[in-house]
Amino acid sequence: MERYLRKKLSGGAFINVPVSRSRAMARIRGKGNHTTEGRLRFALVQAGISGWCLHASLAGRPDFYFKNHDLALFVDGCFWHGCSRCGHIPRTNRAFWQAKIERNRVRARRWDRKLRRQGIMVRHIWECQLKKDLKRVVTRLELLLKGRHMPHAA
Ligand SMILES: [Zn+2]
Repeated sequence: MERYLRKKLSGGAFINVPVSRSRAMARIRGKGNHTTEGRLRFALVQAGISGWCLHASLAGRPDFYFKNHDLALFVDGCFWHGCSRCGHIPRTNRAFWQAKIERNRVRARRWDRKLRRQGIMVRHIWECQLKKDLKRVVTRLELLLKGRHMPHAA
């Protein structure tokens, strides 16, 4: 079986996948790929963007952290963070939800400040932006990373 696979792969396209990329692909295998965050993860790999990790142990546990660029990226859920375009507040227990969402926003701002004090750049993307135009999000991110490559990074 293995010999068959090797034979097949040596003639196929898999042989030239760079290590960093195949590692990133291994990382995305499995659970969560159909979530919004999972879709972004997949798009990053497809675009060949590597050097990030998920939920780094920094303030707020950023969804993505680009170590070589000192960039923390959060994907904000439209409901939980009160997106003005599509976040809605349930009619029942309205005050409760309003307060909860406001608390989330305040907490996120506190994390942002903390990260910035550590020299980390912070970006937030709304869940709906990802759903609507994932390609554009990735392109903008690529530009941002290009302009912010740290000299000490490999
Ligand atoms: Zn939204």
